[in-house]
This record gives sequence, structure tokens and C-alpha cells, in this order.
Amino acid sequence: MDHDPKEVVPLAESYDVVIIGAGPGGYAAALYGAAAGLAIAVVEKDKVGGTCLNRGCIPAKELLEAAAVHRTVSGAAEFGIVSNQPKVDAQALFARKTQIVDKLVGGVSGLLKNRKVTVLEGTGRLGGDHTVTVTASDGSTTELVGEHVILAAGSVPRTIPGFDVDGEIVLTSDEVFELDRVPDRSVIIGGGVVGCEFASMLGDLGSTVTLLEALPAILPGADPDVVRPVQRSLAKRGVTITTGAKVTGHTPNGSGTTVHVDGGDDIDCDVVIVSVGRRAMTDDLVDPAAGVVVDDKGFVEVDDHCRSAADGVFAVGDVIATPGLAHVGFAEAMLVVKQILGEPAVPIDYAGVPWCVYTHPEIAWAGLTEQAAKDAGHDVVTSKHPWGGTSRALIIGDTEGSVKIVAEKTPDGKAGRILGVHLSGPWVTEQLGMGYFSVNWEATVEDVAQLIQPHPTLSENFGETVLALTGRGLHT
Ligand code: NAD
Repeated sequence: MDHDPKEVVPLAESYDVVIIGAGPGGYAAALYGAAAGLAIAVVEKDKVGGTCLNRGCIPAKELLEAAAVHRTVSGAAEFGIVSNQPKVDAQALFARKTQIVDKLVGGVSGLLKNRKVTVLEGTGRLGGDHTVTVTASDGSTTELVGEHVILAAGSVPRTIPGFDVDGEIVLTSDEVFELDRVPDRSVIIGGGVVGCEFASMLGDLGSTVTLLEALPAILPGADPDVVRPVQRSLAKRGVTITTGAKVTGHTPNGSGTTVHVDGGDDIDCDVVIVSVGRRAMTDDLVDPAAGVVVDDKGFVEVDDHCRSAADGVFAVGDVIATPGLAHVGFAEAMLVVKQILGEPAVPIDYAGVPWCVYTHPEIAWAGLTEQAAKDAGHDVVTSKHPWGGTSRALIIGDTEGSVKIVAEKTPDGKAGRILGVHLSGPWVTEQLGMGYFSVNWEATVEDVAQLIQPHPTLSENFGETVLALTGRGLHT
């Protein structure tokens, strides 16, 4: 950790806020609260930045970007740029990831220090009367009292029976980021966000990948119309996807291991990556005297203001049963700090949060899928546009995927309020802002149709899809 505990100003007996965990939920609460003048202590047992910065979003996106560079160079001849086929320099590849992670962790540490947040290294446990006991690695303990306490201890990867994580052959996302080579053959168990991002990244970097998903489809939760292009693209790049797969175990075979699939062929591989979800890190986080309720799945129970059952104790991020996304943690942190400051605080509309998956092609969405909208009783009208007609997509040579908009059908049969925006394709994670605002500002198709999209840009496909919903598309 950047922070040297010896430099910490002598501990005050109590703080306005004591936070357990310095991931996106915890550090955002600390920065936002400290900016408003609150005296804050954060307890962190590892590095600040949590899973997102150290073992999640940031290293994953960095490695996916390296994979995109590999893919671009491999396809350069299409642009009339002739080069040798790229090779992976694993040392440089993983070193760049580490460099970027270290820079960002240093940045967050610096911000905390500048805002005079006290960072204590150790494991925090909440007892009665808002008292947090911090146990350092040498076993010494410190007690902090917060007028308010925020539980932000995050989550850890789930595992499954028959696949004990050893860090060599069986890995979770935590261990993937510690690799110093690209495995020749990888089996990924779980076709959710983590599994699909790893499949895309490893597939591009030359690993032979098999993705095993228990459910009938990968990326459950996303609209199937934007998942299909990803599935096709992964298959085109040599990723084998088996859905409805039930893994039963594996047998190490000297050079790697053999994964057994119920009713299917055995699969030889060098590594098995288990990406079957995450569980809240609430083991030993709260003493019964704290009055906080942890549910049978291990999540801290909170209301729609992130208030736990104990007065003055809040919980944010992956310790509560809300979408496991860093930006949701940020939003929950700000919601809580506003309440601590006595400011108006509007609950988060979780149905409207933005989702981004950094596979190739990328997926991004906000609002209801077509099916979810129908299930909620909406009469809907949809429009879907591939990228082939968007000049910029053709120019950059990236036309996989489409833009799909789900709108409510008005009584006269027209497209009304935009209920969901679902994108797959080039840089759609960067384009989702338009869809996010449309959904969350409860805009209608007519509201958005009159807005101008710059030409030539990728954003024109969103504009065209909206125009098509008015019944009069320009280029469609
Ligand atoms: P997930 O819940 O998104 O997906 C897990 C997948 O594993 C599911 O599809 C599930 O059906 C499958 N599965 C479960 N048990 C299985 C088994 N025995 N065999 C085969 N398949 C099995 O979890 P994740 O992908 O591990 O992601 C964890 C968390 O991290 C999520 O909250 C996710 O939103 C978050 N995350 C987000 C991003 C992003 O937003 N880009 C990236 C990575 C992780």
C-alpha cells in the first residue's frame, strides 16, 4: 500500500464516518465525504482500489485492450498496411497491466491523502455502538468509533465443487491477473461477464478457449439480440462455446488437466478459469452486537437508501444484493454520504443502471430488454440496426453487432417512451451515454429524434435507430 501507517496523524478517538473497505464503494464514500468536510477513516486489508482496480475492471480492460491491439495488427493488411503477424510478449503484456493498475492505485491513495482521509491497514470488524476493531497483519488491534459506519468490504470469486483453486491450473479472476503467460489451452467455466471477457481476451491472444455455461445461453440478463453477435464473433475467433454444460470435475495430467463434462467429451487444457459469480465478503465482518442483518446468501440487508438494520450503519457495493458494478458502488457511496450530510438523497433506480461488457464486439445497455419490457406489461415496439450502413464503422473495419432500441407503443401504435437501449459493436461502451440518458430521463423517441448526431461518427447508428422508430429513417 502506498500509504505508510507511520505517517498517519495520531488517531482521533472517533470519526464522522468509519468505512470498512477501500474499493470503489468505500473509497468513493471517503472521497465524497471528505470533500464535504467529514472526518473519515477507511480500513483496508489489502490495497486501496479493491477488486475493481487491483483484480477486476481495470486489469481486465487493460488486457482486453492489448488483445484488441493484437487483433488490429493481425487484420492490418485489410487497410493496406502490411506487417508481420504479431507475437505476444507476455512479459511486456502483463507488465503494462501492472503499471496501469499501480498508477491508478497510487492516484486513489494520493486523493485520499490529499483529502486527509485516515487509511488504516488491517481487517475491520464492526461490533456494537459503531465500534470498528481493526486487526493489523501483526495481530495488533486498534479501535475506531464512527458516528456513522459504512460497510464496503466487497466480494470474492465463487468457486464450485471439484475445482479447488490452486493458482496454477485452476484459477479465478484473481489468479488470471497474476499470470505471466498466455495459456495455450483454456477452459472457462461460466459464461457471464467475466467468463465472456476472458474468452474474448484469451481468444484474441492466441489461446484455444472452451467456454462452458450451465444455462441455455451466455450472458444471461443481456438482450439476446446483442449477445448473438458476440457469440458469433467468439466462435469465428475459435472459441468453442457449450451451453447447458454441467462440469463434474477435472483430473490433472502432468502438463495441465482434463475437465470432465457430464454427457460431453473430456477437454484437455492448461488452465481452468472458474468464473461462476462472486459472493459478498461478509465473513466475520459484523458482530451480532452490531445489529446488522446478513441474509442467507451472505449479503448485508439494506433498504433502498443503503441503510442496514442498525441505525447509522450503511452498506454499499458488492456486500449488498445490488448489481455488482463499480459504478453502482460509486452511486451508492454518494447516496449514503448525502444522507450523512443531511442532504436530500434519491434512491437509485437499479433498473436503469448502465451495463458494459468489454468483449469483442462490446455490449452495453441501459433499461429493459425487450423480454423484460413485455414481462413488465409494456406493449413495445423495437428497432434494430446493424453497423454495415454506418460509414465510420465501415471505415474502422468493425461492423459486428447492432443497435437495438425498445420503446413503449403508444395507444395510436407509434413509438413512445424509450424503455431500453441495447448496443453491441465498436466502442459501444463509450456510446452508451446517449442510451443511458434517454432511458433515465424517460425520453420519448420524438424527443431524441430531433437531436443531431455528428457525421461521420459511430453515434449515428443510435440516431438512425431512433429515427427509424419515428417511422421515417434517413438512411434506412
Ligand atoms: P455472473 O453472475 O455474471 O456470471 C456467472 C455465470 O456462470 C452465469 O452465466 C452462470 O449461469 C454460470 N455458472 C454458474 N455456475 C456454473 C457452473 N457450475 N458451470 C457453468 N456455468 C456456471 O458472474 P461473473 O461473470 O463471475 O461476474 C461476477 C460479478 O462481476 C458480476 O456481478 C458482474 O456483473 C461483475 N463484473 C462486471 C463486469 C463488467 O461490467 N464489465 C466485468 C466483470 C465482472
